[in-house]
Amino acid sequence: MTYFSLRKVSKTYESQTALHEFSLDLDQGQMIAVVGESGSGKSSLLRIAAGLMNQSSGEVWLGDMQVLSPSQKLVAGYDEIKLIHQDYQLSQSTTIEENIARPLLLFDPEYRKSRVEKLLRQFGLERYRERLPRNLSGGQQQKVAIAQALAVEPEVLLLDEPFSHLDTIQKHRLIFELKELLQESGTTVVFVTHDLDDALKLTDTVLILQKGKIVQKGNSRELCLHPKTRYVARLFSPINLIPDRFDSYIRPADVRLRTRGELLGHVIDQRFLVHYNSLLIRLKNGGEVWEVDDPARKYQIGDRVYLHFDEEQVLLLRS
Ligand code: ADP
Ligand code: MG
Repeated sequence: MTYFSLRKVSKTYESQTALHEFSLDLDQGQMIAVVGESGSGKSSLLRIAAGLMNQSSGEVWLGDMQVLSPSQKLVAGYDEIKLIHQDYQLSQSTTIEENIARPLLLFDPEYRKSRVEKLLRQFGLERYRERLPRNLSGGQQQKVAIAQALAVEPEVLLLDEPFSHLDTIQKHRLIFELKELLQESGTTVVFVTHDLDDALKLTDTVLILQKGKIVQKGNSRELCLHPKTRYVARLFSPINLIPDRFDSYIRPADVRLRTRGELLGHVIDQRFLVHYNSLLIRLKNGGEVWEVDDPARKYQIGDRVYLHFDEEQVLLLRS
């Protein structure tokens, strides 16, 4: 049964369309990620979903309650729907424990105490309860912000690129922990990010947003093997245009390098990466530059090399 839904939500700023008839249906407890480049409409989407910004048209529903926009409601926003963004939104002059307790000030003190204890425990923050936010790492501060948002047990959690300020190690740990916590609590989650890898670590289903419209929806396998557009394909890796063919592309990992063949190029750049060397190869005909993986680390700048690929790995992509 659909629980949280956006129905043909559009948003236009002056003349700029940020969202175009965006629709989304989530079951209770479902987690979904929306991935799109900067400016594709992600933040507008979440602010409208939270009732914090007026849409130009369309509706947002939580169960049988319509989510009203700021112009329809005296105090904008809902306790049931919490929005977290990349800045931690913590009070820097109060402790971690007080920060988490803040949304519960009007609640019964007994309940407040037990709720805060539970969150400190769940988020592994008990040791830091007396500290000020600035004395925690970025990852820990973002955890506190999320614990604070969950204090009032919201039905829906909206995450707007919440990991952008974190380093890779902090980020992976937090995503892993959050996934478990949110599944346990049965919270319905919409996570928006420009980073497809992050999205796939947190959720199974991903919506790809381009210029305010959904261009594709699927799990990682479907999106990786059958991207519909160049934009979707490029979220996974660079793609190389095959000369003299129409809308046909090949990925750097799907190109093999040989000493003979038909498609000739020479290496113009070489980088040592963790699992392979990444090469830039200028094709002899046409001068197109390809990005190619060299897992054997065999080729150097200046080398002549022939490029091979299998037909079944060719991606047919529209723009
Ligand atoms: P994202 O979060 O994916 O970067 P946004 O929702 O912030 O995307 O923005 C979508 C589009 O709307 C962008 O082109 C942006 O420039 C425009 N936009 C966002 N906020 C405003 C605003 N307050 N006034 C005018 N244009 C805006
Ligand atoms: Mg944004």
